[in-house]
Amino acid sequence: MHIEMMIKSIQSRLGLEPDGKAGPLTWTAVYGRIVGDAPPTEADPGALDERSARTVATLQPEVRPFAIALVERAAAQGIVIKVISGTRSYAEQDALFAQGRTAPGKIVTNARGGQSNHNFGIAFDIGVFDGRRYLDHSPSYKAVGAIGLGLGLEWGGNWNSFVDEPHFQLRPRWAKDMPERTMLAELDRRQAEHQALFS
Ligand SMILES: [Zn+2]
Repeated sequence: MHIEMMIKSIQSRLGLEPDGKAGPLTWTAVYGRIVGDAPPTEADPGALDERSARTVATLQPEVRPFAIALVERAAAQGIVIKVISGTRSYAEQDALFAQGRTAPGKIVTNARGGQSNHNFGIAFDIGVFDGRRYLDHSPSYKAVGAIGLGLGLEWGGNWNSFVDEPHFQLRPRWAKDMPERTMLAELDRRQAEHQALFS
């Protein structure tokens, strides 16, 4: 089989645009599928708008290439997204939990401090934009979800209890098949003891 045909077939299976050229995105997806962990090198943060770059910088180094690839991949399909929320401290998470309960506003999360993937730098939220206008609802969120899944990210749009289409997270390999609560407890322990979260 011709090399380009093979690359196209692999790209199709990975949910990528089958253009037959194995660039950084293809290799990121291959790496994610075969090795099952984050790529060792960082994608080019220069490809990001200022707000996304600031948000991506709050994430674990292992997660950053995935966020950057998601923005680039969406742009290649004509969808403008920004990474608008990254890592939150436990105090910030508690304040968010209070919203709609003991504080004004509507309920936006069921997680207290230490109970959200956002507290460990492994999760981020995106926004779809029409020019400079943020879109709360758009069919593009599902398209971006498919891209994220192809990259090896978990997507909040697949959740049953609390569907969260803007949300993406990268599960460490050691947490594969682990209940969410068990993984969060281990992340909390590692973070408290300043241990690596991904190795
Ligand atoms: Zn989120």
